[in-house]
Amino acid sequence: MSEKMKEYIEEAEKALLHTYNRYQIVLDKGDGVYLYDIDGKKYLDFVSGIAVFALGYNNKSYNDALKGQIDKLLHTSNYYYNVPAIEAAKKLKEVSGMDRVFFTNSGAEAIEGAIKAARKYAFLKDGKNDHEIIAMNHSFHGRTFGALSVTGNPHYREAFEPMIGNIRFADLNDFDSVLSCVNEKTCAILLETVQGEGGIFPASRQFLESIRKLCDERDILLILDEIQCGMGRTGYMYAWQRYNVKPDIMTTAKALGCGVPVGAFLLNEKTAQNSLVAGDHGTTYGGNPFACAAINKVLDLFKQDNIIENVNEVAPYLEKRLDELKDKYDFIIDRRGLGLLQGLVFDRPVGDIINSALEKGLILINAGAQIIRFVPPLVITKENVDDMILILDTVLSAV
Ligand SMILES: *Cc1c(COP(=O)(O)O)cnc(C)c1O
Repeated sequence: MSEKMKEYIEEAEKALLHTYNRYQIVLDKGDGVYLYDIDGKKYLDFVSGIAVFALGYNNKSYNDALKGQIDKLLHTSNYYYNVPAIEAAKKLKEVSGMDRVFFTNSGAEAIEGAIKAARKYAFLKDGKNDHEIIAMNHSFHGRTFGALSVTGNPHYREAFEPMIGNIRFADLNDFDSVLSCVNEKTCAILLETVQGEGGIFPASRQFLESIRKLCDERDILLILDEIQCGMGRTGYMYAWQRYNVKPDIMTTAKALGCGVPVGAFLLNEKTAQNSLVAGDHGTTYGGNPFACAAINKVLDLFKQDNIIENVNEVAPYLEKRLDELKDKYDFIIDRRGLGLLQGLVFDRPVGDIINSALEKGLILINAGAQIIRFVPPLVITKENVDDMILILDTVLSAV
């Protein structure tokens, strides 16, 4: 590491609040599936800023679209209409099959909006303020108070109690555990279609179908968090489309902006007509022309560059190569995931493995202490997979 990089890292540790144990590199630029640090060292990136940069770095068409919008209009206010937001909403409806869009600046904010919409829906039905939401153990929905309250990781919540209240936790893929939480106060069931942060656990078809049926019978809203698993990552635009289990409310973010901070929650017409109205919810920046120019271009490029087709082509190969590693090393217990959202489960902490890979020019990330998570740009090729496996195999053979 250069003296210059050391100095930057020291400065960062003095100036930034220490809420992350950061890897010891200062990143400078990106190109395709590669990142470069300020010393010019090249890294193959299998993280994409945690499932964000789906299109690869330095995509000219995307960059030009952003530059064009900067020269035109960066921000207005949601009190006026703007063309990029109108177009982005239309395209997002088209790819999701949902009916109404509210743009946010982040995933957590999309969750906040979804929770508010669900509570308002129930409030309009019976005028009461005691409604409950069922969320899942091991879930992750973000760090703001509403999102944290439905995050199924007690360690993240403990120091910040009290939470928003009236949240019950059930187990993913255990329908009986959900049933035992349901009562007349239940207004929504919230889950990630594929749990990301909590350890790469896909919801089963049967579980999703049972939940959908339960929600229909009891007029409970189904909220699916597609912030990490959505946007083509599992081989469908949204992971629930694989099962055809449609939510009443859906959240999306991360790859939606491919680097520009955006999110959205989407509602079906029934929920939209019976929940949030003027004055109930708002945002200064959400859905501004710049953010929506990014969403527009991302959705155009997904179509134009056949991004989802590429996921479906490369993902089985990634699974196969990861399975080979699992068979080769005793200390790898499992491989699970969907599409280009994969996890290798170890019988030990993976921090040292990730650090060694980084030294050898491969960027990986964990999901929990013992799982390596693979969330590469969706434009990766089989050759990129081979390059990744070669480095990881070298690292693992030294464990
Ligand atoms: C990242 C993530 C969030 C939070 O999104 P932020 O943009 O970090 O607020 C919520 N849900 C899931 C499933 C996520 O992966």
